[in-house]
Amino acid sequence: MEGCIFCKIANREIPAKLVFEDEQIIAFEDINPQAPIHILLIPKEHFASLKEIPEEKKELLSLLLLKARQIAHDKGMAEKGYRIVLNTGKDSGQEVFHIHFHLIGGRRMNWPPG
Ligand code: 5GP
Ligand code: ZN
Repeated sequence: MEGCIFCKIANREIPAKLVFEDEQIIAFEDINPQAPIHILLIPKEHFASLKEIPEEKKELLSLLLLKARQIAHDKGMAEKGYRIVLNTGKDSGQEVFHIHFHLIGGRRMNWPPG
């Protein structure tokens, strides 16, 4: 997708601190971390948000979620816990319109979120 910053990260056109990559997904550190651990997981294929994910791509969503869990465990967050966030649309605060899960942890989270 032309001009999409996360497509550019997926295509290695702009740098990011990669945490994981396979054929379908890529995980990298957030440039402006909100906690000691803040990782973004995206599909390499461009979808603007959850709203645009077609039914037949449901497996991609579980891959992203399970990979977030694996990274959380690898980073030592399994016991204390962590948060996975999927902002969807303007009111959620979504700023980058290429679907991404935030994996956030390493500190106590507040609820409700702002
Ligand atoms: P959103 O508000 O769309 O859910 O979250 C977008 C996230 O992407 C933010 O946490 C922001 O810090 C992160 N971000 C924006 N631009 C870049 C970038 O160029 N590189 C990286 N690694 N993260 C980015
Ligand atoms: Zn994109």
